[in-house]
Amino acid sequence: MSRRRQIYEGKAKILYEGPEPGTLIQYFKDDATAFNAQKKGTISGKGVLNNRISEHLFTLLGGIGVPHHFLRRLNMREQLVRQVEIIPLEVVVRNVAAGSLAKRLGIEEGTPLPRTILEYYLKDDGLGDPMVTEEHIACFGWAGQDELADMQDMAIRINDFLTGLFAGIGIRLIDFKLEFGRLWEDDYSRVILADEISPDGCRLWDMKTNEKMDKDRFRRDLGGEVEAYQEVARRLGLLPDGQDNAVFDLDEARKARETR
Ligand code: 5GP
Repeated sequence: MSRRRQIYEGKAKILYEGPEPGTLIQYFKDDATAFNAQKKGTISGKGVLNNRISEHLFTLLGGIGVPHHFLRRLNMREQLVRQVEIIPLEVVVRNVAAGSLAKRLGIEEGTPLPRTILEYYLKDDGLGDPMVTEEHIACFGWAGQDELADMQDMAIRINDFLTGLFAGIGIRLIDFKLEFGRLWEDDYSRVILADEISPDGCRLWDMKTNEKMDKDRFRRDLGGEVEAYQEVARRLGLLPDGQDNAVFDLDEARKARETR
């Protein structure tokens, strides 16, 4: 078997050359990092769950007309995606104060925001992904005006759709991060959704218990990361149902796992 050419290795994923021109293989690792990679670990089985969850969410978003890079899942840890030129921005959508917003502005975590906030961060590990404004984006040309408008429209649509989807399975979508890329066709490019949408880049809280079901379990040393990711997958209908309780009870999930 010929060795595949690795294009890029990120903190949680590896990109390999795809089978046809214009495609890549996105491989999901179990590695987890936080605080600009100052904290490192592995969450066994995370890559498999994120591959499945992201496939599901991208497919649903495609169904409402959001253009994206996902083509098909290849196996447990890999998916075939379109090759795009990644726009060097992280677009963060916030519905409820949490994380860096709560800390920076001294707002209690869990406070609902009167309107959805979009924030932009420059993708630059060396600088620790600093927050930037639309002025910076225009000034330094990280994205054009039309591209930014497209990303904003897509982010709001994605938020509306995902908020409803997660509410339907008893989960509050607190905030999440999106990445976009340019898909080139001759001399023309359009912006499409790229990267992944998974509990690694979202804050997901159980509606009844407020239990965290996302990477904050790792960031904050809460434990039970895999159980939480599994529960998100289960409620999305991606794993066989154990019992159909809509409340995430971490202790119960742990016990069930130990006795399996
Ligand atoms: P915060 O700015 O509060 O740390 O993060 C806001 C949201 O964006 C959270 O849902 C968080 O998971 C996501 N996010 C922000 N930066 C990153 C990043 O570099 N990697 C990942 N996986 N998620 C991020």
